[in-house]
Amino acid sequence: MTLEQWKQELKENYEETVAWRRHMHAHPEPSFEEEETARFIKGKLESFGIDDIQTDVGNGHGIVAKIKGSHPGPTIALRADFDALRVNEEVDSPFKSTKPGVMHACGHDGHTASLLSVAKVMAKRQEELHGNIVLIHQHAEEVLPGGAKSMVEAGALKEVDYVFGIHLGSTEPLNTVYYNWQYGSANSDSFTLKIQGKGGHGAAPHDTHDALTVGTQIVTNLQQIVSRMTDPVKPAVLTFAGFQSGGEAYNIIADTTEIKGTVRTLHADIQELVEGKLKSMSEHIAAAYDATIDLIYTRGYPAIENTPEVVEKVQESLLSSFPEEEVAEVKESMGGEDFAYFLKDKPGAFLRVGACPPGKTDAYPHHHPKFEIDERSLLRSGEVFLTLIDTYLQG
Ligand SMILES: [Zn+2]
Ligand SMILES: [Zn+2]
Repeated sequence: MTLEQWKQELKENYEETVAWRRHMHAHPEPSFEEEETARFIKGKLESFGIDDIQTDVGNGHGIVAKIKGSHPGPTIALRADFDALRVNEEVDSPFKSTKPGVMHACGHDGHTASLLSVAKVMAKRQEELHGNIVLIHQHAEEVLPGGAKSMVEAGALKEVDYVFGIHLGSTEPLNTVYYNWQYGSANSDSFTLKIQGKGGHGAAPHDTHDALTVGTQIVTNLQQIVSRMTDPVKPAVLTFAGFQSGGEAYNIIADTTEIKGTVRTLHADIQELVEGKLKSMSEHIAAAYDATIDLIYTRGYPAIENTPEVVEKVQESLLSSFPEEEVAEVKESMGGEDFAYFLKDKPGAFLRVGACPPGKTDAYPHHHPKFEIDERSLLRSGEVFLTLIDTYLQG
């Protein structure tokens, strides 16, 4: 019965939860600059009567708060991120971003409001808890190096047995809860490849080493890495996202080319292979045309690896807490998410909750200036957190 009572109370607080989300939505702050948002979160936690709150955890404004149960048991951590993006909002609403060029375009305002609503319900129910809850409000998910790694290094998971996170999904059906058996996101690397040739007069190619044509050879030939060199059952993406070469003139051969892109993989051996081939093939192709390269390869967030035993337990709980048709398995995604660092430290799972307004078949994706969520997903994601608390902390 208890879980049902918690859910009922969560529902009663729904309007307030939406008001918190709208406040954060109207006042977004980009990664590593979330001072006001952190103050807002801390103020709310204090108003619920939570007194164990650490601020400025890690390399930014991270917050770790604890609700200690009255009975012994495991400790579970629940994480919500709270940074916004450098995107100019194009959605007209009463709570539209008041800051030009900054927008909550990934739903992190929803994550935060939802976790706060859970904190409010649980803060006065310590008597019912066999174990403890650690609330992780994480800054800076969107920009490297991210906040998660530094929060783990600062000891956010020190006494934690299991860690959980939820991401809302603007294109997935409202209220569907998604779990994933293993990989929840990809190793997300980026690179800048500079090609140095020898520019010159457009009518005298024999006196130059054309950096533009070398660049096109590299872009074309490196398509073979994924199609011919990686194990087809281990996914890989190599995307060339930018190509800059030459100028306005019709008669000048390019001296340099700069190519940017991203590499996404799930497995460490494939990540090694793509990084290695990117370098060696570019070098050799450039050398064949008397040009040289300089590759800057940056390893970004690692892949999320869920803990299968935990997922099994969570799946069972979700099925008993929600209608069967609202619980579904989701396949691997090649996106990036720094929640991966929490799962590198402790067992747990990362879940998704559908937030697409019903009847909308063309919902805008995350990071889009017209990104929107159905706020009823905040209630569902809170219910999922409560289900996890019930599963692990009810003795
Ligand atoms: Zn995002
Ligand atoms: Zn996100």
